[in-house]
Amino acid sequence: MKMQQFVVIGLGRFGSSLALELMDLGFEVLGVDLNEELVDDMSAYLTHAVVADATDEEMLKSLGVRNFDCGIVAIGSDIQMSILTAILLKDLGIKTVVAKAISVLHGRALEKLGVDRVIFPERDMGVRVAHQLVTPNLLDY
Ligand code: ATP
Repeated sequence: MKMQQFVVIGLGRFGSSLALELMDLGFEVLGVDLNEELVDDMSAYLTHAVVADATDEEMLKSLGVRNFDCGIVAIGSDIQMSILTAILLKDLGIKTVVAKAISVLHGRALEKLGVDRVIFPERDMGVRVAHQLVTPNLLDY
């Protein structure tokens, strides 16, 4: 069955862009960030946006995060926060957990925790742009 509900943890450049695109595609998105300003900016565009610390297990439970089809950990630079959040999302039983990594080692750690898909935004975008540059008429890859 197709995924319907997404929780995006971290509304920085990557997380906010992902969350907005999922909304455009017609899905439900809960955005979570520690930063009140970012949450305020996004709240008009997402199904729900809340200020919360994603490493607070009770908070995640109270938000009903376990009922979401997919959780996306869009925290990069604070590796500790990223890893703790990924563990909690897996433990809460979300079916699919996706996380952004900022280094190969960070990615390996996330994989070992059982994260279903690890994304390296800069690396993946570099590959994508290379394909777009050399493939005539390829609009998207
Ligand atoms: P980007 O490149 O997407 O802007 P970044 O790697 O520069 O991301 P990060 O420091 O990784 O930025 O943080 C992304 C977002 O995650 C920030 O808006 C930050 O407030 C949020 N964030 C960090 N830790 C937590 C946490 N424990 N709970 C909720 N949000 C968090």
